[in-house]
Amino acid sequence: MSLEHLAYVSSATGLLSEQALKSLLESAARLNGTHEVTGMLLYSDGNFLQILEGSPAALDETMARIHRDRRHHDVLELFREPIAERDFSSWKMGLRILSHSELAAHPECIPFFRPNYDASKIVNPKSEALKFLMSFRSSN
Ligand code: FAD
Repeated sequence: MSLEHLAYVSSATGLLSEQALKSLLESAARLNGTHEVTGMLLYSDGNFLQILEGSPAALDETMARIHRDRRHHDVLELFREPIAERDFSSWKMGLRILSHSELAAHPECIPFFRPNYDASKIVNPKSEALKFLMSFRSSN
C-alpha cells in the first residue's frame, strides 16, 4: 500500500474544553481506525498542529472531513509527501494539550500555534513540525 503523511495547522472556532477535545479525539480515532489512518494532534490555546499518515485516498477523505468541521477554521497544509513507513503506527490519533511551558521550551515552534499562521516565521516548517510532533510519540 502506498503511504503518505501530511501536517496542517488550524485555529479553533472557540476555546475548546478538555472534554470537547476528548470528544473530538474519540470520533477522529474511531474514523481513523476504520480508514487505517494514524497520527498525532497537538493543541495549544485554541490552535492545532496535526499530522496524519495513511493511503492517499484515506488522507483525501480525512482531510475533507477535517475541512468540513466547523469546530476550527483556517486549515493550512504544511506539507504532504510519500513515506516508506509510519512514524505514529501505534496512534489512531494521539492528543497532547500543550502547557505554556512546554511550548515556551520550543520557541521555534510557537508560530505553528498562533492564529493566522505565518509561514515566513519558520525557516523549515516541515522538519520543525516533524521533530516537535515526534517528540510526543512516547509521552502520550
Ligand atoms: P458529522 O459527524 O455528521 O458532524 C458534522 C459536523 O458537526 C462536524 O463537521 C462538526 O463541525 C460538528 N460536530 C460533530 N460532532 C460534534 C461535537 N461533538 N461537538 C461540536 N460539533 C460537532 N476526522 C478524522 O476522520 N480523522 C482525524 O484525525 C480528525 N482530526 C480532526 C482534528 C481536528 C482539529 C478537527 C477539528 C477535526 C478532526 N476530524 C478528524 C474531523 C472530525 O472528527 C469530524 O467532525 C468527525 O470525524 C465527523 O465528521 P463527519 O463529516 O462525519 O460529520
